[in-house]
Amino acid sequence: MDHSTIAAIATPSGSGGVGIIKISGPDALNAVANIFCPGRFDKGTTPVSVKDPSFFSPWKIHYGHIVDPSENRVYDEVIVAVMPAPKSYTREDVVEIQAHGGTIILERIMSLLLHTGIRTAQPGEFTRRAFLNGRIDLAQAEAVIDLINARCDAAIDIAFEQASGSLSASIETIRSGITGLLASIEAMVDFPEAMEEEIDTGSMIHAIAGTMIHPVMDLVSAYEESRSLRDGFRVVIAGAPNVGKSSLLNRISGCERAIVTEHPGTTRDYIETLFHSGGIPITLVDTAGLRMDPDPVEKIGIEKARMHIREADLVLHVLDASRPVSDDDRSFFEQYPDKVIFIVRNKIDMAKGAVAPSLSPGMDRAVVLETSAKYNQGIEALKQKIAHAARQLQGSKTVKPVPNFRHKALLLEAKEALSQAIENLENHGPPELVSIDLRQAHDRLGEITGCTASPEVLDEIFSRYCIGK
Ligand code: GDP
Repeated sequence: MDHSTIAAIATPSGSGGVGIIKISGPDALNAVANIFCPGRFDKGTTPVSVKDPSFFSPWKIHYGHIVDPSENRVYDEVIVAVMPAPKSYTREDVVEIQAHGGTIILERIMSLLLHTGIRTAQPGEFTRRAFLNGRIDLAQAEAVIDLINARCDAAIDIAFEQASGSLSASIETIRSGITGLLASIEAMVDFPEAMEEEIDTGSMIHAIAGTMIHPVMDLVSAYEESRSLRDGFRVVIAGAPNVGKSSLLNRISGCERAIVTEHPGTTRDYIETLFHSGGIPITLVDTAGLRMDPDPVEKIGIEKARMHIREADLVLHVLDASRPVSDDDRSFFEQYPDKVIFIVRNKIDMAKGAVAPSLSPGMDRAVVLETSAKYNQGIEALKQKIAHAARQLQGSKTVKPVPNFRHKALLLEAKEALSQAIENLENHGPPELVSIDLRQAHDRLGEITGCTASPEVLDEIFSRYCIGK
């Protein structure tokens, strides 16, 4: 473990009322004592830094000025909060300097600190230290970044739940069950004759299925259910080329995000835009038009469109109201029987007098709306329906331990290994193999809380943090 002292500007760049610099490590108090002159500063007097770290009382806020010790020049009026180890964010000595929130001021204070021999923190290094010093586990550390990046109330609730350690507790319960089973299996390996009578394969299988695989899969389902809360409600606009998908995206999001032309096949990739409705973040995705015989580039776009449709919480299937419903449109519904789909009959301005087409049986289940993206008709009603669908989905969720994408992948690997253990037990395979399977599951679950996570995994996770966190 690295015992250097680190510092970083913890507030976002740009101007603000207050800017905070965070320092953590054994030399934190020393570094700040070198550049801190306590109390008021009267013009004409020479500012002198306290130098001695014992000047700072723990758990107190100290008022004073930051001074350049080489020139005895005042840099800023600040307050300094002192949080000695181990009761601090990192479990090391932590000092926070609250200065005025200007980029240049903060950078100048940072450079004074670096002159005292400490170094700049890497992204996420404060939280990484909190993890390495045992204050939080890896799942809790990840919750910190989820909290910072949360885009709605529900995402905050999930992140707090995870930060409180409830996910880690669920994982540890499953792991300790595996540990108990491993002890029995390994005794079989070491003392095969003595244990032959003792082992009840049936109850082992029962325990693996009921107390391990079942809760693991419950957590995987919780991930699936909560994806829209964490990432926002995903609405995908699909349909044939030229029906007005890009125009609708622009109208709904209120910005000219997508290019609109009369030429079919303009949107060859996909376009995403985010807007909020009633506090819920809604991601709107415009996809390449679905049609037969696309050119090679369009084909890739159509593949992506299908991927987005599969991941959507809601699909807006756009039809040109002035044209008959095609077989392609009808088959769309057969391809996605489980999706919530709104049929949007766009270009209604051109369909004056036309009778609404009879929809095929599969299409009956969809909500049908009429719009004119060109003349801004029906857009408000469409937006309200989207917001309603998003609220319904959110309202049906309760907050419980919820894994993230990384956890989900590890849970599925653990499930595979546990299923393999059951298969080996059922086939009366050698206990060594069962032991390998169980250890595999144990280690995968340990990667969630960090007990068995490699340095590379930690690097990957903490690199996603901002500097200063
Ligand atoms: P996309 O290929 O499905 O994304 O369709 P676009 O949004 O690019 O629109 C294709 C053409 O239809 C453009 O010329 C638009 O101006 C026109 N268009 C889009 N919506 C409407 C509408 O509601 N009414 C009419 N009359 N034209 C529209």
